[in-house]
Amino acid sequence: MKKKGKLVVISGPSGAGKSTVVFKALGERDDVCFSISATTRKPRPNEVDGREYFFVDLERFQEMIDNNELLEHAEYVANRYGTPRAYVEQKIAEGMNVILDIEVQGARQVYEKMPEAIMIFVVPPSIDELRNRLEKRGTDTPRAIEARLIRARQEYAEATFYDYIIVNDDADTAADELSAIITAEHCVAADRMEYLKDTD
Ligand code: ADP
Ligand code: 5GP
Repeated sequence: MKKKGKLVVISGPSGAGKSTVVFKALGERDDVCFSISATTRKPRPNEVDGREYFFVDLERFQEMIDNNELLEHAEYVANRYGTPRAYVEQKIAEGMNVILDIEVQGARQVYEKMPEAIMIFVVPPSIDELRNRLEKRGTDTPRAIEARLIRARQEYAEATFYDYIIVNDDADTAADELSAIITAEHCVAADRMEYLKDTD
C-alpha cells in the first residue's frame, strides 16, 4: 500500500525567509509540494493569481469558510488567509508531503485537528535582520513593516507548540535542514513497525 505523505506546517515572521527556504527545498525534492492559500490581500507586483495565492474577495473567502472548503483560516495584519482543504487531502493520499506556509493562529488550528502534522517555525538570526530583510524585499510600506515586526514579536510568544525551529541565516543550510526534517520524519519507528513484523 502506498505510504501517505506528511503535512508539514511552516510558520515564522513575515520576512524570515519562509518562501525562500521552502522553494529551495521544493526544487530539490519531487516528493514535496506546496499548498497555495486563498487570501483577501491584494497581489504584490510580482505575484500571479494561482501561483503565490488564490486572490479572492471577502465575499468569496466567507463562502469558502461556510462551505467548509478551508482546513484552517486566520486574519493577519488586516487580511484573511486560508488553506484550501481538497488539495491537501488529495496530495497526502497520493503520498506527497504537503507544505503549508501559514501564520501561528492557523498553525495552531492544524496542530489541534491533525496532531501528526510536522510543525516547523522559521526565524531570522535576529529581529534587526528581519527588519533588514523586509526593507530589502521592498514589498511593504514602512507602516506595514512596523505592523509585521509587532506581529513577529507576538508570534514568537505564541510559538510554543512547534516541533522544530529552523534559523534561516544561510538559506541553503536552512533548506537542507527542512529537507532533513522531512526525511527523518519518514523514518520514525511508528511508521515502520511493519518491518519488525516480518520475522520469517
Ligand atoms: P517570508 O516568506 O518569510 O515572508 P521571504 O522568503 O519573502 O520571507 O524573504 C524575505 C526577504 O529576505 C527576501 O527579500 C529574501 O530574498 C530575503 N532572504 C531570505 N532568506 C535569506 C537569507 N538566508 N539571507 C538573506 N536574505 C534572505
Ligand atoms: P504574506 O502577506 O507576507 O504573503 O503572508 C502573511 C502571513 O500569512 C505569513 O505569515 C504567511 O505564513 C501567512 N499565511 C499565508 N497563507 C496562509 C494561510 O492559508 N493560512 C494562514 N493561517 N496563514 C497564511
